[in-house]
Amino acid sequence: MQSFQLNERASTVPPVLSYDRKGWQTGYRSLKEEFDYWIDDIEGEIPPELHGTLFRNGPGMLDVHGQQIQHPFDGDGMICAIAFDHGRAHFRNRFVRTEGYVAEQSAGRILYRGVFGTQKPGGWLANAFDLRLKNIANTNILYWGGKLLALWEAAEPHRLDPATLETLGLDQLEGVLQPGEAFAAHPWIDPACNQDDGAPCLVNFSIKPGLSSTITLFEFNPEGKLLRKHAHAVPGFAFIHDFAITPNYAIFFQNPVSFNPLPFLFGKRGAGECITFNPEKPTQIVVIPRHTEPHTAKRDKLKARIFETHAGFVFHHANAFEQEGEVVIDSVCYGSLPAVEAEADFRETDFDALAPGQLWRFRINLQTQAVQQELLESRCCEFPYVHPAKAGRSHRYIFMGAAHAPEGNAPLQAIVKIDIETGERQLWSAAPQGYVSEPIFVPRSSSAFKNGLPSAELVGAEDDGWLLTLVYDAAQERSDIVILDARALDQEPVARLHLKHHVPYGLHGSFTPHYFESESTDNG
Ligand code: FE
Repeated sequence: MQSFQLNERASTVPPVLSYDRKGWQTGYRSLKEEFDYWIDDIEGEIPPELHGTLFRNGPGMLDVHGQQIQHPFDGDGMICAIAFDHGRAHFRNRFVRTEGYVAEQSAGRILYRGVFGTQKPGGWLANAFDLRLKNIANTNILYWGGKLLALWEAAEPHRLDPATLETLGLDQLEGVLQPGEAFAAHPWIDPACNQDDGAPCLVNFSIKPGLSSTITLFEFNPEGKLLRKHAHAVPGFAFIHDFAITPNYAIFFQNPVSFNPLPFLFGKRGAGECITFNPEKPTQIVVIPRHTEPHTAKRDKLKARIFETHAGFVFHHANAFEQEGEVVIDSVCYGSLPAVEAEADFRETDFDALAPGQLWRFRINLQTQAVQQELLESRCCEFPYVHPAKAGRSHRYIFMGAAHAPEGNAPLQAIVKIDIETGERQLWSAAPQGYVSEPIFVPRSSSAFKNGLPSAELVGAEDDGWLLTLVYDAAQERSDIVILDARALDQEPVARLHLKHHVPYGLHGSFTPHYFESESTDNG
């Protein structure tokens, strides 16, 4: 079966690397200290209109008292909060005090197995049949319904104090979740839900994998109260990290993978290392109607539908929308699942041996069931982001982390802007010593938010705003918060805020126009 990967190597001459591996590796060090300070080492100027808080999540601990974890996805969640007001910025970071973090830090050793291969010391005998999940709260962070929630897809959120980042405990969302129940780390804010008279709502999902898997869809109102919840069975094992929404549908890519639990049960591998990619099988696209009330007498309209496309692996979607009987979805696809090798050191990743993520557009015809795909961007990319007013609506721009070089697989060192209308690209690169994170788009106008939530109305142009990204500077072994003008990525950053320390490579974050800052003790 044809796979997504297009870039066959045309030459055996090795390209000049835009990065140096030793420098890249230094971004994977634990940040054990917790800081709280006003950022005073700034190049350029923080825009005075930039008001609110950028929250970021990611693995902050890559070892437990010197015992290395096996994969960064197993690292304890650490939240960074950067609060902007009147041209000033305040930094704070704190670990989520999960049960596992507290227990391991006080024991001074690894006590839990990780999903991605971290094992307790003592070999397989010490690990066999220990099936406890350590909820590490390390994937995303969301402010919704007056709560700041650290998300990890296999269990419920942890609630934090948005001003101090103090951990308040597990949060079952007013009884919506059972203790330990999954809640994905990729929520969408629908800025104008057509089931709620145009009010914003939060849409998220959970996966219960098995021989047949269950996808549950949740929608919450701005106060955090459950509006709708419905579950759908899909055939086969499902490993689904992200999804996308349109006004009427939720769209999931069920990657062609299978799961053999035996090495996990017998203590030899993490559960995530027991997933194998099946290149001969298609990717199934699951389209679930968001409506719970039938518009018509036809109950079938509320059922999940499954479409097929080429084999490939998708972690992240940029956005989706409806257009003339089609659902259109833009996604970062890999030719195969980047395998988590047992006992391989992630710091020794051979980038050249792996398929790059590339941005594809899929058009799903709901009548004919045909799925068409088109490559939008062949440059290695990840962490796509669109203007929040465009969630579920047709977008013109996509912002992503990208490799510096136009071809091949490499660490993310650049931010790329894709103009779908004109095909134009803009690129800002931090190479050779800089490594970027997910770029978060913040609209320039404060009226792009209503009551602290994104408005569906576009105020100004779709690229009229800033991109906020954390950049690890391997030359200084510290991190910067870089503010880019999203209209002109090819220009110098608007501001570069030098932190006093590094932040390990992170995962996802979000911006809220609420300004959260408590009394600073300035211990930085
Ligand atoms: Fe993700």
